[in-house]
Amino acid sequence: MKFQPGTKMSAFHPPVRTLMGPGPSDMHPRVLAALARPPIGYLDAAFIGFLDQLMPLLRYAFQTENDATFPLSGPGSVGMELCLVNLVSPGDKVIVCRNGFFGGRMVEIVERCGGVPVVVDDRWGEPVDPHKVEDALKRNPDARVIAFVHAETSTGVVSDAKALAAIARRRDCFTIVDAVTSLGGAPLQVDEWGIDACYSAAQKCLSGPPGLAPVTFSERAIERVRARGERVRSWFMDLGLLLGYWSGATRSYHHTPPANTYYALHEALLMLHEEGLENSWARHRRNHWALRAGLEALGLGFLVKEAHQLPQITSVFVPDGVDAKEVRRRLFADYGLEIGAGLGDLGSRLWRFGIMGHSSRRENVMLCLCALETVLADLGVKVEFGAAESAAYRAYAANPPEARAAGSSA
Ligand SMILES: *Cc1c(COP(=O)(O)O)cnc(C)c1O
Repeated sequence: MKFQPGTKMSAFHPPVRTLMGPGPSDMHPRVLAALARPPIGYLDAAFIGFLDQLMPLLRYAFQTENDATFPLSGPGSVGMELCLVNLVSPGDKVIVCRNGFFGGRMVEIVERCGGVPVVVDDRWGEPVDPHKVEDALKRNPDARVIAFVHAETSTGVVSDAKALAAIARRRDCFTIVDAVTSLGGAPLQVDEWGIDACYSAAQKCLSGPPGLAPVTFSERAIERVRARGERVRSWFMDLGLLLGYWSGATRSYHHTPPANTYYALHEALLMLHEEGLENSWARHRRNHWALRAGLEALGLGFLVKEAHQLPQITSVFVPDGVDAKEVRRRLFADYGLEIGAGLGDLGSRLWRFGIMGHSSRRENVMLCLCALETVLADLGVKVEFGAAESAAYRAYAANPPEARAAGSSA
């Protein structure tokens, strides 16, 4: 677009929103404030000292002792690409589980790496079936890598990462796990479950700044990368080169780190540590139960069975005859509230409610239910005012917060 003569230019002030979609999630004022701290040189001793705090906080979030645990510059998709481009060499067979949108993206990246994906499909809205994975491994004993999404944001399903990683270990395979939406919001135990490579994103349940992908690699995974026959096809994402900055006694220049976003991620991780990982998981569960009770009282149906439901993202079917897009438009216009649409084939049939990180709060759950009631009523849907809030209130009363760790500020 060309600027017309006389076009008035001005600073961009984003409208005030409450983010209850599939990410990004709301950032806490402490995290926002951290972004404004001045960047300093990446070899400055003060900066290195700061990184020495950032990395243990990330290890805590991942529940790992892995030395190779760091935030990669780039969104979650770059984390996905980093894991695949390093652990998959041309010709390698890779079992890829696809039960939603992001599993499909993994298949595409494996192909671009020159790998041969063996796709294990499950229906959108269902978890990955471990029996199918076992069968795929029996049929493809030469496959050495299994990739799957722990928390499928496109549907709101959690898969049994522990069971899938155990299957991989028994067959001496490497696991690549997408924990973009699970990290910080639902139990994830990288070491205990024996996961080899795991990536996430800062802007979902960590409520950090978009643009960083926390990643972690086991010693075994690093050895596999070092033993590759051919160089990694991406210079930027070559793990061996990246570890020249992140690992070892002497840090050498790789690329200029986005210092401000590191500050913000650090603040977000600090807040997670202050709250306690388990308390954060419990908070996400509680708010989910209340939201679910309220949505149910509104007569909405769920895509996912509660047994496989993620607490941080809930998909509901749009009622017949209701214009899904118009509801979202009005939520924006009347309440500044963002919720998500469906993805892929489910695009126009679903709404997705995200309560991730700092967005996972009681006031948001109540606002969302009230907003939805009034918007649906405006569009001629018969609703009983107050039924959703009342159901949510009862769910909160039935599930009091678990005892908080001493010193918790949450
Ligand atoms: C959001 C998301 C991604 C991609 O993250 P970006 O930061 O948008 O690149 C990958 N996997 C899952 C499960 C996600 O929810």
